[in-house]
Amino acid sequence: MAGIRIEHVTKSYGGLTVLKDFSLDIADGEFVVLVGPSGCGKSTMLKILAGLEEASSGKVTIGERDVTDLAPGDRDIAMVFQNYALYPHLTVRKNMGFGLKMRGTEAGEIDRRVTAAAKILGIDHLLDRRPRALSGGQRQRVALGRAIVREPLAFLMDEPLSNLDAKLRVHTRAEISALHKRLGVTTIYVTHDQTEAMTMADRIVIMKDGEIQQIAHPDTMFREPANLFVAGFIGSPG
Ligand code: ADP
Ligand code: MG
Repeated sequence: MAGIRIEHVTKSYGGLTVLKDFSLDIADGEFVVLVGPSGCGKSTMLKILAGLEEASSGKVTIGERDVTDLAPGDRDIAMVFQNYALYPHLTVRKNMGFGLKMRGTEAGEIDRRVTAAAKILGIDHLLDRRPRALSGGQRQRVALGRAIVREPLAFLMDEPLSNLDAKLRVHTRAEISALHKRLGVTTIYVTHDQTEAMTMADRIVIMKDGEIQQIAHPDTMFREPANLFVAGFIGSPG
């Protein structure tokens, strides 16, 4: 496990600046929720952390390591996307173990980790199924399992519940929180849903147009919003 430090990250696509001097220090084991309206730069920030996009300027440190220029596979972090991107032709077991296999992990070790993660997520009875024989919620658990087996230093989750119906969303939200309590892995969780942010976060980072508006504990943000935008978004009396 490790903390994450983001220092003065800026990102432009051509003339459009989508992240403006973004700085954030995340403690080891912390669950930080990045929230804000569609298009404010949340996914871009996660992609820069994962190494899937390059920052125009700034620095990212994971644990003691400056990862700014490292390839995605060398960063020891796992990303969970909103569309689960499971391999349709592979069983759940093989989907979960695929990344480890690509890294050359020994078969017995892959099996041990997949079995353990499947038990934690309550999908051990589904290991021999293929994705099309799973419900949306089950698929999302497989996607989480695939991240867990890598035993990463940190999880990055980009709107992982947005494809689930409302009831399942509430249920899975609680499961992700329980999983975090159990594993204690540093997590950055992106959502545009203020209820998810309020219920799940150790700290909320609220963004608008590529800029951080406020970083605070949910209760503090509700009681003392930094500005009208934060008050409106969080739904506090302001
Ligand atoms: P969010 O995840 O908060 O909805 P994004 O990070 O996906 O927002 O996008 C932030 C802004 O950057 C948006 O205006 C989006 O259109 C733009 N953007 C994202 N990716 C690219 C890209 N590859 N090329 C050009 N513009 C992009
Ligand atoms: Mg997004």
